[in-house]
Amino acid sequence: MQTDQQRRQYLQAMGIQTWSLRQPQSQSVDASLAAAETVATPSPQAAPIADQNIELPAVASDWAGLQEEVGVCTRCELSQHRNQTVFGVGDRNADWLVIGEAPGADEDAQGEPFVGPAGKLLNQMLLAVGLKREQVYIANIVKCRPTDDRDPKAVEAAACEVYLKQQIALIQPKVIFAVGRIAAQNLLKIDQKVGDMRGQKFEYGDSKIPLVVSYHPAYLLRMPSAKRKAWQDLLFARQILNNE
Ligand code: SF4
Repeated sequence: MQTDQQRRQYLQAMGIQTWSLRQPQSQSVDASLAAAETVATPSPQAAPIADQNIELPAVASDWAGLQEEVGVCTRCELSQHRNQTVFGVGDRNADWLVIGEAPGADEDAQGEPFVGPAGKLLNQMLLAVGLKREQVYIANIVKCRPTDDRDPKAVEAAACEVYLKQQIALIQPKVIFAVGRIAAQNLLKIDQKVGDMRGQKFEYGDSKIPLVVSYHPAYLLRMPSAKRKAWQDLLFARQILNNE
């Protein structure tokens, strides 16, 4: 069980300034932060939802088969320069599914998503809402590292989509937390900036799984002033999940 002091330390580790209000000690850190943070009220979906009914090639319907298929996949050119595929990691029955963009150099070397500095920050962000990394599932839009860490091309994201769709179907998360423009745009099939997508409750495809958009931790490392907004997004996602 995470204490208020621990959670405050995690928030500080995220680079978010915390402060104490004069109040009984029994009040939780969330309550004290709520006095300083404005958490958006879940709003009706405000942007068009993608047509998720495009027919995709069949893939294995179980975890082992799916992971095996991904491991030898050559559906797109990203297969040519990877060291290994980065399938995804975490609790396969998780309530939270975090989806990023693509593996980088660290991820390509270790075969696990979000393991570099951005991964460390993601871990701290999750802890700030009481989640250990092992309690969520973490994946990317594409499972192979784009050369020179460029954005994945639309054709690559489309080729890889079938695997992520199957992972989502297997996990059946209660909320999807899409970090970064590439993840959000590919999941929702809309062309908006992250700043315009934040604070809205989207739904993912026919499954209608609630989807919240936030900044990519790599962006937050470059733009620490946006960490507070990411914190608000996490609270918003948790609020949606708790209301489900
Ligand atoms: S990015 Fe996806 S579709 Fe492309 S080769 Fe890797 S696993 Fe296959």
